[in-house]
Amino acid sequence: MSNLRFQVVEAAFSKRPLEVSQPKERPSAYFGKYVFNQKKMFKYLPLNTYKKLREVIENGTALDLQVANEVAQGMKQWAIDMGVTHCTHWFQPLTEGTAEKHDSFVEHDGKGSVIEEFSGKQLVQQEPDASSFPNGGIRSTFEARGYSAWDPASPVFIVGDTLMIPTVFISYTGEALDYKAPLKKSLLAVDKAATAVAQYFNPDVRRVIVNLGWEQEYFLVDEGLYAARPDLLLTGRTLMGHDSAKNQQMEDHYFGAIPERVAAFMKELEIQALELGIPVKTRHNEVAPNQFELAPIYEECNLAVDHNMLIMSLMRNVARKHGFRCLLHEKPFAGINGSGKHNNWSLQTDTGILLHAPGKTPEENLRFITFIVETLMAVYKHNGLLKASIMSATNVHRLGGHEAPPAIISSFLGTELSRLLDEIENSSNEMLFKLSTKHNMDLDIPQIPELTVDNTDRNRTSPFAFTGNRFEFRAAGSSANCASSMLMLNTAVAEALTSFKERVDALIASGEEKTEAILSVLRDDIKTCRPIHFDGNGYSEEWKKEAQRRGLDCETSCPLNFDRYLDPETIQMFESMHVMNRHELAARNEIKFETYQKKVQIEARVLGDLAMNHIIPVATKYQSELIDSVHKVYDIFPREKAQELTAYNLEIIEKINKHTSFIAKAVDEMVETRKAVNRITNIREKAIAYHDQIAPYFESIRYHIDKLELIVEDEMWTLPKYRELLFIR
Ligand code: ADP
Ligand code: MG
Repeated sequence: MSNLRFQVVEAAFSKRPLEVSQPKERPSAYFGKYVFNQKKMFKYLPLNTYKKLREVIENGTALDLQVANEVAQGMKQWAIDMGVTHCTHWFQPLTEGTAEKHDSFVEHDGKGSVIEEFSGKQLVQQEPDASSFPNGGIRSTFEARGYSAWDPASPVFIVGDTLMIPTVFISYTGEALDYKAPLKKSLLAVDKAATAVAQYFNPDVRRVIVNLGWEQEYFLVDEGLYAARPDLLLTGRTLMGHDSAKNQQMEDHYFGAIPERVAAFMKELEIQALELGIPVKTRHNEVAPNQFELAPIYEECNLAVDHNMLIMSLMRNVARKHGFRCLLHEKPFAGINGSGKHNNWSLQTDTGILLHAPGKTPEENLRFITFIVETLMAVYKHNGLLKASIMSATNVHRLGGHEAPPAIISSFLGTELSRLLDEIENSSNEMLFKLSTKHNMDLDIPQIPELTVDNTDRNRTSPFAFTGNRFEFRAAGSSANCASSMLMLNTAVAEALTSFKERVDALIASGEEKTEAILSVLRDDIKTCRPIHFDGNGYSEEWKKEAQRRGLDCETSCPLNFDRYLDPETIQMFESMHVMNRHELAARNEIKFETYQKKVQIEARVLGDLAMNHIIPVATKYQSELIDSVHKVYDIFPREKAQELTAYNLEIIEKINKHTSFIAKAVDEMVETRKAVNRITNIREKAIAYHDQIAPYFESIRYHIDKLELIVEDEMWTLPKYRELLFIR
């Protein structure tokens, strides 16, 4: 066998699907097998402790150490019954993954032997020495301690021999170093603001929760092929590779039959997910070859985020077992669709979903309109920040392509809802409402009760689309922690609802009737947030111009987007909603710049190395073969005939020369520029310099490499090609 590429291709082709052993019971029987859920709490905890813990979970009351100790005893018993030997706090630092540090249950028993111990203290709080997690300067080096603290709202679970305890991760000074802490605060802010507003319509509402149903897109690549692509291995995406002659143009992959080897992977993934209490429901092929999607039934936002983090790690592990690598990068391959994570977001009271239309009564409909409009207000006011929250060095490649939302946030509402908002905006109260003197009913809103908001009226090009009973935020990246964008959205909505309530209350205090006051504020807000509403084609060039005219944030430079984290409106919003203070925002902002810069730096290094020690040598070798053959022709033919016979090869020789010299020169320049840029000490400036001065080299270098791929003899090319990476499974 000649080269590594041919070997891995052959190996990949000959792989058969793994046998997946099916559990004998039905999914409902093994769902949550490895979760310390309500059923197990009841079984393993004394009744009183069980009741106290439920109260903590349901009402968010504080957990005292006494109860924690009793809970820990029950948990330990369950864990030991399940063969568990270790436990860890499981948290979500500001990297892309999760972090854990395992401790075994073993303690000295004082008699020269050991026993299994697990105390309330260990359950509730740990101090991972976390000086090497990103902290954006929050933690000075002399105080490297970070605290992780149990989040009872997310149940403890078992992976392998380890009890996993979901925790927040905060600094010595109490500032958040993770995603979970501010997410939980944002959920509290929504609860407070939305409950107050919901009580206008139904005084019995006690609580509002946020639901999240994520849809996770990903690619699978055979692990042999993956290993033979250093760029995929080190950066998560291909930095070079000519288009496959066939890619997604036949549209034959979307919803197509799932290939057998992939089906086995999905089956096993689903079983493991269900055992961990993740209610996975939907699986299908996506648009691009070797691209797939997985979606669960929606859950409360905090839990849904944990489940998404957990499933991303499950996906990576199960894929490896099946001889695949799971790519969660937003744009592993140029020229075909990238992967997103659609965040389906809705609000729900203890009495029903708030964004659901149509309601049965005029009050419900007015409530529906209120929550829709105030969500739009939030998205309008903070559209730049929402975009910043989903921006990353990896997601930026996907945005604005002809496949994903543009780098502009707008909201799609569909014809009926749009018409309704127009009518409310343009009509007087008298026209819409026959108000009765009784405070109850007789509230006739002709249009609203007939409302049917058709959720098949879909616009795939919108980054923030209303889909019947929820908004779907589609701009988030496939590798991202959902919490990054969800906590922004939640906080913005809490702020909008708070302002709405203040204004309505002021009108009521000045003697206006409640419904009129609500309508009057809504009418103002519909007008104000009009620029965010766009039902047209988000991929079009005209929209970019129109959005600019409307004053929406159209910045496409990834690092410049991060400036939104420190806008006065952002700081004001987070501080007034008690979600994050300015130091925490500054820290997050700094981490965004740093992560961006490091990723581009790694890509630049990998690209430079590959170009110089893979591509140019291979191309030069082929070129010298051609030169040899030209010489040989001259050896055996008369000069004139030889000239004629070698014309084509000479042309190729020159072409190769043109491309290799371009590459060598560009790589050299890129390296020199990098040296200069690396001397910049301000992290924001450095990230911007990487964006403006380094990243532009990638495309031009790639262009010439991809041309060489077409010229060089197939057998000599060492890196697996797109047609192999995308079509072998
Ligand atoms: P599509 O791809 O057509 O958008 P999917 O079925 O793939 O739809 O995914 C829809 C997602 O939306 C699922 O995760 C589902 O649980 C979630 N979802 C449905 N209703 C709600 C709701 N009210 N709030 C939040 N998420 C929801
Ligand atoms: Mg979907």
